[in-house]
Amino acid sequence: MAREKLTTLEIISEIIARSHTLRELLDQIVHLVADRMGTEVCSVYLLEVDLLRLKATVGLEAEAVESVTMTVEEGLTGLVVEEGEAIAVGDAPSHPRYKYFPETREERYRSFLGVPLQHRGDTLGVLTVQRIEAGPFGQDEIKMLKAIAGQLSGVIVHAQLLDQIHLEQAEKPPPPAVPLDVMVHRGIPAAVGIGAGKVHFLGVAGRFGPVRERRAADPNLERADLQEAVEASFLDLTHIEKMVTQRLSEAEGAIFHTHLLILQDQWFRQRIEDEIDQGWDAPTAVRRAVQIYVENFRDINDPYLRERAVDVEDVGRRLVAHLVGEETEPVPEDLPEAVIVADAMTPSDFIGLDKALVKGIILGAGHTTSHTVILAKSFGIPVVTGVGPMKDLFVEGEEVIVDGSHGIVYCRPTEEIRQELERRKAWLQDRSDQLASLRDLPAETLDGHAVCLGANVGLMHGVEEALRQGAEIIGLYRTEYSFAIRPDFPTEEEQLEVYRHTCSRFGRQVTIRTLDVGGDKALPYFPIEEVNPFLGWRSIRVSLDRPDLFDPQLRAILRAAADYPVRILFPMISTPGELDQALAHLDGAREHLKREGLPYDPEVPVGVMLEVPGAVAVIEALFDRVDFISIGTNDLIQYLLAVDRGNRKVANLYDPLHPAVVGTLQRIVQAGEAAGKEVSLCGEIAGEPLYVPLLLGLGCRILSMLPSAVLAVKEVVRAVRLADCQALAQACLASPDSASSLQMLEAFLTEAVPDVLEGRTPSDVLSS
Ligand code: PEP
Ligand code: MG
Repeated sequence: MAREKLTTLEIISEIIARSHTLRELLDQIVHLVADRMGTEVCSVYLLEVDLLRLKATVGLEAEAVESVTMTVEEGLTGLVVEEGEAIAVGDAPSHPRYKYFPETREERYRSFLGVPLQHRGDTLGVLTVQRIEAGPFGQDEIKMLKAIAGQLSGVIVHAQLLDQIHLEQAEKPPPPAVPLDVMVHRGIPAAVGIGAGKVHFLGVAGRFGPVRERRAADPNLERADLQEAVEASFLDLTHIEKMVTQRLSEAEGAIFHTHLLILQDQWFRQRIEDEIDQGWDAPTAVRRAVQIYVENFRDINDPYLRERAVDVEDVGRRLVAHLVGEETEPVPEDLPEAVIVADAMTPSDFIGLDKALVKGIILGAGHTTSHTVILAKSFGIPVVTGVGPMKDLFVEGEEVIVDGSHGIVYCRPTEEIRQELERRKAWLQDRSDQLASLRDLPAETLDGHAVCLGANVGLMHGVEEALRQGAEIIGLYRTEYSFAIRPDFPTEEEQLEVYRHTCSRFGRQVTIRTLDVGGDKALPYFPIEEVNPFLGWRSIRVSLDRPDLFDPQLRAILRAAADYPVRILFPMISTPGELDQALAHLDGAREHLKREGLPYDPEVPVGVMLEVPGAVAVIEALFDRVDFISIGTNDLIQYLLAVDRGNRKVANLYDPLHPAVVGTLQRIVQAGEAAGKEVSLCGEIAGEPLYVPLLLGLGCRILSMLPSAVLAVKEVVRAVRLADCQALAQACLASPDSASSLQMLEAFLTEAVPDVLEGRTPSDVLSS
């Protein structure tokens, strides 16, 4: 890059990109500034109480660094601090305030320019340049050095803070050794919080365990046992249906109602009794009947009907569990404080848990953006994923503590560890009280820029949480959730009821996304089995291939929009042609409703999710066709970096700060500005305080996130200046790698909201 073409901002970005510590930063500053200004000398002096210390220089003697100090009453540098203004002197040695420090050997330099480094009204130090040749610095040069100093001051403060943090961490006493009988398992921190309880394997109670085939002597006894098991299953299914309906909504309860219907199905009962008549004991008879039932279903061509077999198996498991005396509930009464352990858990498994009793979840596989984790977060349940083969690591009933903030599980914790985690839990509680006080305050930066904070929801529980947290809009309503908790595809009328209910309860704008199944989101009754599901038949691709599913959904959304402020969002669009097809279906849905004389909103705003990197290349054509774009970073990042968002082996490569990601976000926002259309962001990073200043700086003004993240994000928004965020974003854009961007973001956030990162800092005990 030609030297003369460098702008101030480019200098700053380059400096930041190359520096990892305060010392490196200052060294970079003096070299680049001297180069840019064409001076023989550039130095930085930092103020330590009332003493100025030379911290970096090019041109003066290297040994003078750290050893030369002066009071603010001494020398021209001191004068810059006293005056708080730029001081430019053509012939420094003849100035009355000139003071010569022999260690610097600066007698050769005649012209001097010094500007104060100031941050939020405080003077940090002085940036000076000197030339051998006498003669004053020009007005342009003074202006430029002032501009550079103005931008650098904040960066220096951040670097100082970071150095301090690293120093404090280095000074901390070594963590107490974890006693040998305490086992510590590390995984991925997926949902924050700390929970203690006894291990309960979901696999033990929730799955159809092996049944050994046995003959029975007396069929009458077996029939009596079966009757008891049916009654017990009926009672617990009724209880579960009621509980789920009360805690969530009727839609969620409906899945268990289907199980009740199966239990009462005459054919099913008859089949079991026939098996008993043939001399099998009751558990064997149930198993054989289920097998026949399942095989019959498997022969049916219709995939929906075929998948009803899963429900039959589920009911069969429950019956057998009662027959052989196993606990049937995931959290039995005598394990009130349970930590659920499972190799994997689907969103439907999660909904079946009694959330009040679940103190934590440990998963062998999964990722922080998996939908089960997203659900758990909205219930405030800590989750650690990616821990490993569960059966080898945990024992049913054993005491464990789950630290979802750090991704650590302690088995048989000592009193010391327990106390440390209690302290942390109390800290988290204080934080949550602190955040609660922000609920009704505006999400506005210190320099007065409003930011819209929305919630991503899927079930009524999320809507309630969004209201509690003061979300302004529902920026993403994931319809697949309400599909997933049902026994089959909802009809148009059923969907309409759910959408109306959601919108009327929330009372403000709701952006409803059309069905986004496939990838990691399976419907129990609509399995998609593919070698490469994230690159396969998912999302809008399914909708376009299945008008029988897509069209009723579009009609239901259009009808809900007649009464409520609703918008439609198409997921995973990759080409304008694909979007045209989706829009044609929307037109068809409008015509259908018009013909039927049903009320609908013909003007409903339409948007697409930007999740496929290839779509960025055709973004202008997409903007031509829609009203808004919502960036789905969860998928966009996985596709940009070729990293499966649910695969723990590559979780470390899932990097929101990769230059490709940051650059792509900028490209999308700029395209939105050029088109005069709205751009929002609804991936998980919108709810991560660390990334918020960067997103604001890149130009995102609408962020939609998990409801539970809204207040922490609002705290960040209210603590930053947009102008600073913009400089930060520029620096990240110029950064060659994510490590330096991460460092800048951490320093920025630590200064703006010191408490935010405290919860993530590994404690003494945890860092063992
Ligand atoms: C995304 O991909 O960022 C997104 C919000 O969609 P989902 O997580 O539902 O795939
Ligand atoms: Mg997505």
